[in-house]
Amino acid sequence: MSSIDFETELSETEQAVQETVHRFAEEVLRPVGQELDKMPDPQQTIDDDSAVWPALKKYAELGINTLGADDTGLSPVENARLSAIIHEEMGWGDAGLAMVMTAQGGGIVTWLANISGKAELISRYGGSDLSEFGCWAITEPDHGSDTLALNQPTFNDPEITANCIAVKDGDEYVIRGQKSSWVSGAPIATVMALYCTIEGNRGFEGGGIAVVPLNLPGVSKGKPLNKLGQRSMTQGEVFFDEVRIPADYMIVDQDAYKMALQGTLTMANSWMATTFAGVARSAFDLANAYSKERIQGGKPICEHQSVKLRLFDMFRKVETASTFARKVSTINNGTDRGQLHYAIAAKTYSTRVAFDVASEALQIFGGNGLTKEYPMEKILRDARASMIEDGCNEVLSIVGAEDL
Ligand SMILES: Cc1cc2nc3c(=O)[nH]c(=O)nc-3n(C[C@H](O)[C@H](O)[C@H](O)COP(=O)(O)OP(=O)(O)OC[C@H]3O[C@@H](n4cnc5c(N)ncnc54)[C@H](O)[C@@H]3O)c2cc1C
Repeated sequence: MSSIDFETELSETEQAVQETVHRFAEEVLRPVGQELDKMPDPQQTIDDDSAVWPALKKYAELGINTLGADDTGLSPVENARLSAIIHEEMGWGDAGLAMVMTAQGGGIVTWLANISGKAELISRYGGSDLSEFGCWAITEPDHGSDTLALNQPTFNDPEITANCIAVKDGDEYVIRGQKSSWVSGAPIATVMALYCTIEGNRGFEGGGIAVVPLNLPGVSKGKPLNKLGQRSMTQGEVFFDEVRIPADYMIVDQDAYKMALQGTLTMANSWMATTFAGVARSAFDLANAYSKERIQGGKPICEHQSVKLRLFDMFRKVETASTFARKVSTINNGTDRGQLHYAIAAKTYSTRVAFDVASEALQIFGGNGLTKEYPMEKILRDARASMIEDGCNEVLSIVGAEDL
């Protein structure tokens, strides 16, 4: 049970959504995430017979993909509060599936389509149904942190050459190059929010943001990435060989790029914060339950003082991460007072807490925690990845500090 259960101000809708998503997390996300995690070849996780497909279908049927969509009928604050609840419960179920379903599945492409003002893009990508599957590509083989460190001197250094460049050609843009193997959801995505450099002499600052359908001629994909954590989330590189898009698919141009990237990072870090508060809570819940069952020294281990203290310390961290993440999510996504440094503080805090609490939880499981028979080692690996995901925590903190 989390403190969210005691929030008297939760509306009936919020309570109902929380219960529904928690059930989905327990009955679908957790078992499917564990099954995908154990597959030795990441290609298996997206083969036709993979459990990921029915899970995605069930997620779509829940109708909770409200992020960024214009057709939900919710106020921005209502949307932000629900989003925080949804992210936390889904993170509790499975980090990788939570990320691929919420942030990549509908988030950034939907938001871009809606701000484009272009009827064709809005009708195809702007709603909350999941018939199109989005991904977000900003990092490149030679540029990870560089692409995100938007208030550092390197950001406008024209000497640093991007791996993916868009060139204006009449009423089209031609895209050449590639994005990194870390693009979440790319192997199954049908559309991409592409953050890339536009030809010129402004470095990363002179970027643009385009909606790129991934069935266009010249687009190809690499093999799904084999990695340590969040193995249930498929990731892979995308190549562009003279790919042509209409010029008005470039939704954000060079002059607005930095501001739009700041907005994206504010949004993405808020989502990460709530999701990994949920991951931390899952580790705590499992360790708490285990400590009541495991008998050592003639009594359940929860009756040993050092275990009690460890559990209480974990509980305190989970509750502070969850409360802070939800507050920041509401400020940043629900009002026009979006603040990047708050989002970064919440992301770096929540992901660190998720890793620390998962590590403490594994200790409570003793040797069992290290085995694949028990869920802890997977949660620890999933949490470890989050401290690099959407920006290394150190680099994000440097960016956040600049914003104070
Ligand atoms: C689970 C996961 C999901 C991801 N999803 C996506 C996605 O959907 N789309 C996408 O485009 N990318 C995605 N990424 C990529 C992610 O954003 C990058 O991995 C991250 O920004 C770090 O880049 P890098 O891996 O190239 O590390 P590098 O930038 O090479 O950094 C290596 C080390 O150097 C340090 N460092 C680098 N620069 C500085 C600096 N200026 N000051 C101080 N220290 C520095 C870093 O802290 C780090 O410890 C994902 C990554 C992960 C792990």
